[in-house]
Amino acid sequence: DAAVASWRRAHRVALRDRRAPKPVRTFLEAAFPPFLTAPLEAAGFDRPTPVQSQAWPIILSGYDTIGLASTGSGKTLAFTLPALVHIVAQDYLAAGDGPIALMLAPTRELALQIKAECDKFGGASGVRNTCVYGGVPKGPQLRDLQHGVEIAIATPGRLLDFLDAGQTNLRRCTYLVLDEADRMLDLGFEPQLRQIIALIRADRQTLMFSATWPREVERLAREFMSDAVMVEVNNAAD
Ligand code: ADP
Ligand code: MG
Repeated sequence: DAAVASWRRAHRVALRDRRAPKPVRTFLEAAFPPFLTAPLEAAGFDRPTPVQSQAWPIILSGYDTIGLASTGSGKTLAFTLPALVHIVAQDYLAAGDGPIALMLAPTRELALQIKAECDKFGGASGVRNTCVYGGVPKGPQLRDLQHGVEIAIATPGRLLDFLDAGQTNLRRCTYLVLDEADRMLDLGFEPQLRQIIALIRADRQTLMFSATWPREVERLAREFMSDAVMVEVNNAAD
């Protein structure tokens, strides 16, 4: 489709994959449920960013997805909105212990940014999230986790503490996000990442979002993703 090819060129979206669905160029085209369109409108956003336009239909098609785009390009909502769609499509309020979506991030600051987007866009759906990270007492995080959550946003070390103690579990987890895996590896989280991922069912959907794609991260992707579609937004010239 020439229009799609020209959109991708204009937005520097590179896709080396025939399976990729065409990008959604407006929020309307994304066909999100009303609980998402309302906060998108309230946020005053004009249109999806390039990585969102192309990643949303790929993720919503169920593919493992790699999104590479520079800092500030809207990667958080690229994986958060499909997570909410994934969750509300199932019997999510049924008593289940442990999250349906797990979003791993390298730092507390980043985890809290993801949480803020989940709060803003998931609020109207009733989907509950919690954020767990180290350096603070465990009590309040544990209470939230055990109260029941559909989304857990976590730094690897603290989540593993809760998992090892049997205080939460990943039995329901079918949507895994590794945000800024490059930084997680730089910070030495690879052993914890491996232990966490080993607890998640193999038929999960796995997503990786990052600004860079070093060889060690690619190796991790090969091991933990199945046949992922890669979306790369090249803003080098901007
Ligand atoms: P990244 O993870 O790629 O570094 P973020 O997800 O943190 O980027 O997004 C950067 C900023 O852009 C955030 O303040 C976010 O709310 C905003 N943003 C996200 N999507 C859009 C959009 N479609 N239109 C305008 N702003 C957006
Ligand atoms: Mg980000």
